[in-house]
Amino acid sequence: MKRPSTPAIVFGAVVAVALVVGAIVLSTRGSTPTTLDLGTFEARVRDGEVATATLHDSSSTVTGTLADGTEFVAPYPEQYADEVTTVMLEAGIDPEIDGSGEPLWVVVLLQLLPIAAIVVAMMWLLGSMRGSGTMGKFGRKQLRQPGQGDEPDVTFADVAGCDEAVAELAELRDFLADPERFSAMGATVPRGVLLVGPPGTGKTLLARAVAGEAGVPFYSLSGSDFVEMFVGVGASRVRDLFEQARKHAPAIVFVDEIDAVGRQRGAGVGGGHDEREQTLNQLLVEMDGFEAGSGVIFIGATNRPDILDPALLRPGRFDRQVVVDQPDLVGRRAILAVHAASRPLGPDVDLGVVARRTPGFTGADLANVINEAAILAARHGEPAITMARVDEAVDRVMAGPERRSRVLSDHERRVVAFHESGHALVGHVLVRTDPIHKISIVARGRALGWTLALPEVDRSIHTRADLMDQMAMLLGGRTAEELVFDDPSTGAQDDIERATELARAMVTRFGMSDAIGPLQLGQSSAEVFLGRDLGHEQNYSDEVAARIDAEVRRLVEEAHDTARAILVEHRLVLESLAAALLEHETLAGGQLDALVAPATPRPG
Ligand code: ADP
Ligand code: MG
Ligand code: ZN
Repeated sequence: MKRPSTPAIVFGAVVAVALVVGAIVLSTRGSTPTTLDLGTFEARVRDGEVATATLHDSSSTVTGTLADGTEFVAPYPEQYADEVTTVMLEAGIDPEIDGSGEPLWVVVLLQLLPIAAIVVAMMWLLGSMRGSGTMGKFGRKQLRQPGQGDEPDVTFADVAGCDEAVAELAELRDFLADPERFSAMGATVPRGVLLVGPPGTGKTLLARAVAGEAGVPFYSLSGSDFVEMFVGVGASRVRDLFEQARKHAPAIVFVDEIDAVGRQRGAGVGGGHDEREQTLNQLLVEMDGFEAGSGVIFIGATNRPDILDPALLRPGRFDRQVVVDQPDLVGRRAILAVHAASRPLGPDVDLGVVARRTPGFTGADLANVINEAAILAARHGEPAITMARVDEAVDRVMAGPERRSRVLSDHERRVVAFHESGHALVGHVLVRTDPIHKISIVARGRALGWTLALPEVDRSIHTRADLMDQMAMLLGGRTAEELVFDDPSTGAQDDIERATELARAMVTRFGMSDAIGPLQLGQSSAEVFLGRDLGHEQNYSDEVAARIDAEVRRLVEEAHDTARAILVEHRLVLESLAAALLEHETLAGGQLDALVAPATPRPG
């Protein structure tokens, strides 16, 4: 097509302007009702100045007349529908509810008209310019390109409460900022890092912060985008994205929700999802197509690392995992501070108190709390956010549908605190266990709390006494629950499983039971090699089986007795440990040592 003449462009522009103006005039025709913001509207209602009101559900507006006859329209955010209704009912106004929408579609249509006019005009202009030099080509290409690389302006300072993850990612930043320095030293830098953690803990934020810190472009795609796509689209998007990243290296390729495409192949009903597999295969091919040192780094994010295809985790792909946990008390405080920094806080707001009120909240929840508080303050025309508004916001966020399942009741927190304290105390007293480094009641994965014990030296041989101590420590959690609550919970399931497995191995594999003797019973070499139970290959009689069971039971009971004796003797230490855990949520280092110190360690 030949280049459009100047008069043609002028004509197009005139038509566009005329259409827009026409649409605006149309949409505001007739008598114009005054628009009231929500705060003003509610004030009028309370003052009894509203005569009639109709609530339009689908457009989230109230229309009606004021006492003096003026018509008004008051838009409100969708989630305030209940509140708006309540306010009116309390003031004695019975609003009509308009669920349907004859006038409504007219409203919508009128609102859309200007946009439609602009689109028509643009299409006309673009159409006449296609093929006329750079502009046309540029436009077409833009439309086809997948996730554009952007340069995020977030930095590590915007992320709080996950210092360990930040420290690990700082290394990637250093590399991206100056790849030559690393390759000159012959250093191998991880190709891909998988961020693992529950939703809302800041994985996406962290990935963007790495790009922002290093000043490199950020190319992202999300696994869930591909699931509903036509076959082949996902794979070609992946290809395009990597091509872009390669061109602009050093760069970051971020694959969010990678579990949506990266699920184990061949798993699931019907042999898997074609599109998903094609996309995953393309992803693997692309990742392998990068030379080490090409300056492109992959970051993946997931909350389900357990279901990922093992191929994704091989060297050269996502070969390093960084855990992004739910924040503890200190972390929550820091996150609140980050989000409060840009907002006017009243002098009575104590973020430490807010952090204490919000166990189980993620970074996203906390960001939401501050934002809700700001909205509430603004709606009431207040100059700063007060503590009362923050409290109100916490309640709102806490009541949100996703949150409810994640928040523990006070009783549940106490149970978890005593459980973990039980592990820690038994582990501290019995010298043959690995030293306790940290205990926490901040959920991690499926665990509501956890105790971190690290070996001082790598031991390749364990004695019977070592294993008995270890078993007692495993049972320490459940035993503490029994002592304190008289009503054990389901939270000890995993511990009991591990203790029983250990006892069974002592009897049937390590020959540590005098009653059975040093025999290897029922274990094929394949099982040991694969490290998992492939069902039982019984090479002994039922009578021996019964004796094995009795021995396993005896060992578990012995360990249970050891744990109980320790916890009874040091009941006060147990109480103070649990109380400190409830207060601080995580205990480590000197603080932990000081708390357990009154209980003297001894050989088991
Ligand atoms: P994820 O990707 O883990 O689901 P996001 O990174 O999308 O979580 O977090 C959503 C929002 O919540 C972020 O944009 C940020 O405002 C807030 N947020 C989450 N975690 C943190 C954190 N650790 N520090 C500060 N803000 C956070
Ligand atoms: Mg995310
Ligand atoms: Zn436990």
